[in-house]
Order: sequence, then structure tokens, then C-alpha cells
Amino acid sequence: MSGEIAMAISTLSAAQTIANGLVATRDQALVLTVKTDLLQKLHEVQQTLFALQIQNQELLQRNRELEQTNLELQQRITAMDEYELIPLIGGVSVLAAKPGNGGSHRPPYFCYACQQQGKKSPLHFEPPEFGDSSFHSFLRCQIEPRHSIAMPGSTTPEDLRF
Ligand SMILES: [Zn+2]
Repeated sequence: MSGEIAMAISTLSAAQTIANGLVATRDQALVLTVKTDLLQKLHEVQQTLFALQIQNQELLQRNRELEQTNLELQQRITAMDEYELIPLIGGVSVLAAKPGNGGSHRPPYFCYACQQQGKKSPLHFEPPEFGDSSFHSFLRCQIEPRHSIAMPGSTTPEDLRF
């Protein structure tokens, strides 16, 4: 961008030099030619400045977007300080608030996959279909069904401290 500014300035000083030379001349045709040339150069300078303004706007916009992203990442880091990934049963891991003063982790539990995407989704316990423990019970993600965690059908809410 600074190269373009330097070029715009040198174009303007060239135009100034030509204009100074004009004072001495009485040749109307030459005056017209030089005047046209000056207007052309002025137009080029305006185009360059306009392009620079647009570039500047784009950079400001990009900067705003990056600041917003930074803010969101900071909020996620803060959220991670308050929650931790804990194993429940059978290799199932969920996010839970850090317990105070040596207590144990308790619901609500949150979906780790959603947390990775900056969302906070509580997991709801769902017993096996027909109350038949040969089917799975689930911890259901409230945002994305595919995140739901299957557990042995014999799992009870009490097992998970619900
Ligand atoms: Zn989820």
C-alpha cells in the first residue's frame, strides 16, 4: 500500500512541475494538451486513493472479525476453566462443572463435542426403549443428535448421579 501512496505522490509532483512550466508558455494548443494530461493524472491519483480506501475498509472489517473471534475464544477458555472432562461409566466422558471443596461431579453434564464448537449443550438421560435393558440407554445431546452417547441399558440415572 505504501508503494502506491509513493507513486501517487510522485505523479502529483510531476504534475506540479509541468504546471510550473506552463506559466511561461503562450501556446494555447500546448496548454490544452498539458491540461488534459494533468486531468488524466489527477484521475489516476483519485483512482489510486479510492482503491486504497477500499483496502483500508477491508482491513478494518477483517480486524473487527478477528477481534470477535478472539473474544469468542477467550470466552471458551474461561468456560473450560469452570468445567472439566470427566469419565462417567464405560469410557463415556462428559463435561461437568468443577466441584467445590472436594465434592463429586454432578449434573448437569454437557456435550464435549458441542463445547469444542463453542456451544453449550446439556446432556439429558434417556432410559432404554420399553424399559428393556437389552437396549441402550442414552445421554442425549440437545443440539446435535449424533453426539448422543450410548450406554449399557442397565445404566440408571442414579448411576450417573442425576
Ligand atoms: Zn453435542
